[in-house]
Amino acid sequence: MLPGFSECFDPFVIAERGRTYRGVIALGELDRLAGCVFSDHGEVGYELTFSKEGSVFVVSGQVKADLILECQVCLEAVVLPVSTDTRLGIVGSLDEVGELSDAYEPLLVTDKKIALKDILEEELLLEIPLIARHDGCKIAGGSRPEQAQEKDNPFSILAELKPEGDQ
Ligand SMILES: [Zn+2]
Repeated sequence: MLPGFSECFDPFVIAERGRTYRGVIALGELDRLAGCVFSDHGEVGYELTFSKEGSVFVVSGQVKADLILECQVCLEAVVLPVSTDTRLGIVGSLDEVGELSDAYEPLLVTDKKIALKDILEEELLLEIPLIARHDGCKIAGGSRPEQAQEKDNPFSILAELKPEGDQ
């Protein structure tokens, strides 16, 4: 494991300096994510650059993993290859979330502290579909997949706060 992987740092300072983090870690190190997948086997690869684009503090790059989920039809493991196109604008308050350009997804950091681990987990959790299934597994007419949507995505609140069609 990379030293400092779970250590908190000030992302605004790091973005101001400009820095890229690269590495590979065991998926099991991401405990919040590990609790949401069928199996925590496998690795997570990442390359994340902290920088400033104009006045925006940015985290950009890619997080890759093969997530093992449970097929909601046959209840067997289904592998979901994930490769994110990460483009986050670091904001210090909910007010700033609203001001952020649509080009960025908001990364709310209220106490000027975040760990790489948190960013990797959030990026991968967003990739988990509400209903995972094999391509060949059809949802039977009698099932009620809409129930799965009750699982709240922790980021849906932020998505709602971000005004649509911001000019
Ligand atoms: Zn299946």
